[in-house]
Amino acid sequence: MTARAFAALLLLAYPVLFAQTPTAPPAKMPIKTLSPEAVHRSALVIDTHADTPQRFLDENYDLADPLNGGNLNLDSIHKGNLGAEFFSIWVEPKLYKGQYARRTLELIDSVKQQVARHPDQIQFAASPEGIEEAHRNHKFAALMGIEGGHSIENSLALLRQYYALGVRYMTLTWSNSTDWADSSGDIDDTSVPHNKEGLTEFGKDVVYEMNRLGMMVDISHVSDHTFYRTLVITRAPVIASHSGARALCNAPRNMTDDMLRAVARSGGPNSKGGVIQVNFFSGFVSQAYWDAMKAQKPEVDKAIAEAKEKAKAEGREFKYADEEKIQRSYMDRIPRPPLSMLIDHIDHIAKVAGVDHVGLGSDFDGVSGQLPEGLDSPADLPKITAALMARGYSAEDCRKILGGNLLRVFREVEQVAKDLQAQDRPKITVKQPFEKAAK
Ligand SMILES: [Zn+2]
Repeated sequence: MTARAFAALLLLAYPVLFAQTPTAPPAKMPIKTLSPEAVHRSALVIDTHADTPQRFLDENYDLADPLNGGNLNLDSIHKGNLGAEFFSIWVEPKLYKGQYARRTLELIDSVKQQVARHPDQIQFAASPEGIEEAHRNHKFAALMGIEGGHSIENSLALLRQYYALGVRYMTLTWSNSTDWADSSGDIDDTSVPHNKEGLTEFGKDVVYEMNRLGMMVDISHVSDHTFYRTLVITRAPVIASHSGARALCNAPRNMTDDMLRAVARSGGPNSKGGVIQVNFFSGFVSQAYWDAMKAQKPEVDKAIAEAKEKAKAEGREFKYADEEKIQRSYMDRIPRPPLSMLIDHIDHIAKVAGVDHVGLGSDFDGVSGQLPEGLDSPADLPKITAALMARGYSAEDCRKILGGNLLRVFREVEQVAKDLQAQDRPKITVKQPFEKAAK
């Protein structure tokens, strides 16, 4: 049959196929309240931070494997309706000194290998449309974000090539300051050189180039000074890929109310603002947990130093996994905070910054298993939706928090990039072209 004949046949069949039956429901039906489970199922759920690539690379872990002490696998992804994950490309700065780019590329490859191994379940994505397309295909979208500006080795060329490989956000720093941006992790360490403005001229150039490329600027981990400097110069809204509220847990990695509001207002004059993706780590969720962790730090440091000495004496390499195992053994002794405390963070940020400016940044596989009670993998994500609805959040608000807000910011970041690419790239080190008029 020709296509034309087939189309004609379809037209003929149309009234039969689509005619309303006499038993069609009346036009006005009472609005049925959706169950939390149904709301969760109807959402495109996006998480912006998981450290699973360390497992892919160092433990030969496959997403089809059982969790084996980790947080993320295909089974839990399907159970919890996780639609997209930004896999963290994180290079341990001491262990990989001198080979940051190599390790970065190997981690990027490890994510792509997972996609290649499971084409029926995973789809690589590098755009909002890519996430939506994977979702339509009933596949899990795998994305990437670099955690720590040291990965670019002070080179905009490397930054551009990471973008070309599909990296769609970069956390300006991890816990270590770079030559061009300060971290909250070592800001009080006087042996580490810091810069006065939080960002050097080159640092501002990095932010501009990220804006121009369409790579989301992630301000999790940076020092307060670097945070504010970045917000003054960025032309696109920023994200905090995995951070909590400092008002509820006073960790330097968390954000003050003023910072939360600043993220919500970030971007150009017409911006709809950025988003804070809440970290699930017990140490950033609960003040009691944070205090207990601080109290055991000297003992943990001593145990790590001893293990290092022992490995050296035995001629063994001391790996990050060894250090992590020791840390985990101590943290496992601290009681887990209740899930409600994590919901408190989401609720607080929604109230302070607005419900359009909060989302999920789990930090799965990056927190030594230290997560609130009942939250061990994406399979438990529906509990968050249920808890939010129990506090009066509407289905629409839940869908925003679960992923809609992040998609909106991602889209805007791409639009800003298009606009900037239509202009000449300014010589930023000569004159800063991005001074924004006071709003
Ligand atoms: Zn982190």
